[in-house]
Amino acid sequence: PFNLVPSSATEGDSAIIVSSGVSRLYAEEAIGIVGDRSLSLLGLVTIYPLPKTTIQSLLRNHSTILFVEEVDAFLEDGVRGLASILGMQARMFGKRTGTVPAWGEMNTDIVLQAIRDLIHIDVAPRDDDYEEERSAAEKLLIPRPLTFCPGCTHRNVYWALRKVKRRLGGALIVAGDIGCYSLGVFYDHAMDTMQSMGSGIGVAGGLGVLTRLGLSTNVVAVAGDSTFFHACIPGLINARHNNANLTFIILDNQTTAMTGFQPHPGTHTEDDGLAQVSIEEVVRSIGVDRLARVDGTDIPTLIDTFHNVVTTDGFKVVIVDSICQLRERRIAGTADETQPVIVRPDLCKGDSCRICVSQYSCTALSWDRERSKAFVLQDQCVGCGSCIDVCPHDAIQRRLTD
Ligand code: SF4
Ligand code: SF4
Repeated sequence: PFNLVPSSATEGDSAIIVSSGVSRLYAEEAIGIVGDRSLSLLGLVTIYPLPKTTIQSLLRNHSTILFVEEVDAFLEDGVRGLASILGMQARMFGKRTGTVPAWGEMNTDIVLQAIRDLIHIDVAPRDDDYEEERSAAEKLLIPRPLTFCPGCTHRNVYWALRKVKRRLGGALIVAGDIGCYSLGVFYDHAMDTMQSMGSGIGVAGGLGVLTRLGLSTNVVAVAGDSTFFHACIPGLINARHNNANLTFIILDNQTTAMTGFQPHPGTHTEDDGLAQVSIEEVVRSIGVDRLARVDGTDIPTLIDTFHNVVTTDGFKVVIVDSICQLRERRIAGTADETQPVIVRPDLCKGDSCRICVSQYSCTALSWDRERSKAFVLQDQCVGCGSCIDVCPHDAIQRRLTD
C-alpha cells in the first residue's frame, strides 16, 4: 500500500519510470514537464524485498522501463534479476546502460535528458530564462572545500595530528572512517584512508602488526563515539588480540552529529529505562597498554598528548572529549555566554602569516583584503577560543568586556 503504483501500470502503457526515494521527486517533476500521459511512474517505497507482484505487472504491461535512482543500480538490478527468473522481457535502461549517470546526484534535468534520448518523447522546452537563471544561481555559490563547523573540536584534533606528523618528519599514517570526522580527508589530507564505518581501526590494526615486520610509520586510527559503538569494537578487539602497535583516537562528542543527532549507547540519558555505556570502560575491558583522556578544546594538550602516546610503543587509546557545536547550540541550548573572540589588527602579521585562515581554517575566520588582516565573522563565531592557541603572534584574543 505504500508504493505509488500508477493506475496505468496495469493498462498497457509503453514506457514507465521506476524510482524511489528523492529520485522519485525528480522523476515526478520531469513527467510533469513532459506532460505526456503515456509516460507513467512506479514510485517504490518498499524496495526490499522488491514487490514481486507489482514488478510482474510492470513487466507485463510496459515495453520500456527507465530506472531513476541514486547510488547503486539497486532497483535496476533487482528488476532485471526478477525478469530473468520470471522469463519476462522489456527494454530496460538506467545506470547499467549509461542512460543515467552511474554516480553523482540525480536531478530533474538528467531525467528529462534520459526521457528525451530514450523514449523519444518530445520534451517541452524549459522556460526561456531557465538556463540563464540557473547559471546565475550557480555563480552565487561560494566555492569552498567541505570543512568542519566553526568551533568543531574535530578540527583541533586534526590540527594537532598535523603538528605531530610534522614533528615526526611525516612518519604518521591516520586511518579513519565515516562520520563528521571524515572531513579530515579534506583538511590538508590529515586523514590518509577512509572507506566505511569501522574501517579505520581495521586498517590500523593491520598496519600496527606490520610495524613488527619493519614498518616504521606511526599508526593512528580515528573514529567517532557513535561509530565506536556501531562498528569499531570487533576491530578493536582484533587489534588487541594481534598486539597491534597503534593509537586509536576516539572523538567522543556524545552524539551522532552527521546524521541528525541520534543518540547511541554512550550518549548521556535522563531516561531511567536506559543505561549509558562508558566508552572508557569498554576500552579498559578489552585491555589497553595506555589510555589517555584529553579535552578537545585544549590544542596544546592535544598536541603533547598525541605526540607522547603515538611515539610510545603498544596498543593505546586516546579518548578526546569533544564538543559538537551544533548540538550544544541548537539541540541542548546550553551555550555559555562567552566573551567575543577578535583579531587585534595591530598584532596580526597579515600576509606574511595567514596561519589562522589558510591552515587552521575555522570558517568563522575571514580575511580583510584591504587591510591584509584576519578578522572574526562574529555572526558565525561560537566563541570557543580554539583559534587563540593557533595564532603564533597572540593577535587572536578575547575582547574584554566590562
Ligand atoms: S594567525 Fe594571527 S597573526 Fe597570523 S594571520 Fe591569523 S590573526 Fe594574523
Ligand atoms: S573562537 Fe575562533 S575557532 Fe572558535 S569559532 Fe570563533 S573563530 Fe572559530
